Amino acid sequence: MKHPVIRIAVLLSILVLFSANVSAATLTSHKKMMAQLALLSKKDANAGRVSVVNIGTSVKGRDIPLVIITDPAVPEESKKRLFIICRQHGDEPATTEAMLRLISRLAVLEDQDVADILSKVSFYFVPMVNPDGADAFRRKNANGADLNRDWINLSQPETRCVWAAIDAAAPDVLLDMHELSPGNRTGDFIESAGALCGATDGVVKETTILQNLVVGMLHTHDMAVRSVRINDRAPARLAHRYFPIREGLKTLLLETRQAGARKYQLAYRMELHVIGAMTVAKYLAGQQGELEARIADYYARKYNVASRGKKPAKKNQQPPVKVEPAADKSSGGIEIKIEQQQ
Ligand SMILES: [Zn+2]
Repeated sequence: MKHPVIRIAVLLSILVLFSANVSAATLTSHKKMMAQLALLSKKDANAGRVSVVNIGTSVKGRDIPLVIITDPAVPEESKKRLFIICRQHGDEPATTEAMLRLISRLAVLEDQDVADILSKVSFYFVPMVNPDGADAFRRKNANGADLNRDWINLSQPETRCVWAAIDAAAPDVLLDMHELSPGNRTGDFIESAGALCGATDGVVKETTILQNLVVGMLHTHDMAVRSVRINDRAPARLAHRYFPIREGLKTLLLETRQAGARKYQLAYRMELHVIGAMTVAKYLAGQQGELEARIADYYARKYNVASRGKKPAKKNQQPPVKVEPAADKSSGGIEIKIEQQQ
C-alpha cells in the first residue's frame, strides 16, 4: 500500500465504485417502477383516474406496463389521446424518470390545471419499453436487438406488444422519448418526419405546430432544443418514421444529451422531457392560443430586459433568444435534415 502507484489505483477504484453507486441509486429499476405504479394504482382505486395494464413481457419475462391516466367522468370518445413511449434504449434513463414523475403528478394532483387537461386528454404512457436493457443499462434488449430499428419487422416481444397497444389506443399524437449517448456531441433536439419521408400534409402541418410550441415553451424555461425535420427515403424502422409514414400518426421524437456541461444533468433532462410532454398535452387540450401567448410574452419581456437603457422596443421585433433558423421559408422554423444521422 505504501507504493504511490498502488495508493492511486486504490483511490481511483473507490472513486469509480462511489460514482457507480450514486448513479445506480438515482435511477429507478424495473422492480421499483412496478412497485411505484402498483402503489399509485392502489391509492387511486376509488378515483378511477389511473389504470396500469401489463401489455406484454420482455425477452427475460419482465412486465411491460401501460399507464393510462384520464378523467373517468368524461366519455373517452370526447377526449384526445396522447401516447408516450420511453426507454426503447435501456441506457437512456431520463425518459423513464421524467415520465414516472409526470405520471405521479397527473395521478394525484388536484389542481385546476391538471383537472382541465385530464378532462380533455387521456395519457397513455409506456415508461419502460425495454426493461431488460434498462436494468442492464444497455441500449439493446436481451436478444441484442435495437428496438428502435424493429418497427417494420416487429421481431421482438417488446415492440410487438407496444405496437398493439398504440394500435388499440389510436392516439392523436405519439411522443417517442430518447437520450443521446454520452459520446454523442449532438445537442438536444425534437424531430419529425417530413413529406419526402412519406408523411401526409396533415401530419407535417400539425407536427410543425407542435415542434414550434415545444421549442417556444422550452425557451420560456431557458431551455433550448434544435427543431429538426427529416426528409429522406430511409426505411421506416424507427418509431418516429414508422408511425407517421405507415400508420398516419402525428409523431415526435425528443432527445436529450446525457453528458457535458452541468445543464445536462439528470434533473435538467427530466424537466425538458416533462415540459415537452405537457406542451403537447396542453395543445391537445385546446390551449394552443394560451401557449402561443405565453411564448410571445416571454420573448417580449426578454427583449425589453435586454434593451433597457437602449432604444425602445419596436413592435414585431424578432425575439432576442436564439431561435433555430429555418432552412427554407416553408419549413415553419424547422431545420431540415436530409440525411439520417442516427
Ligand atoms: Zn434512443
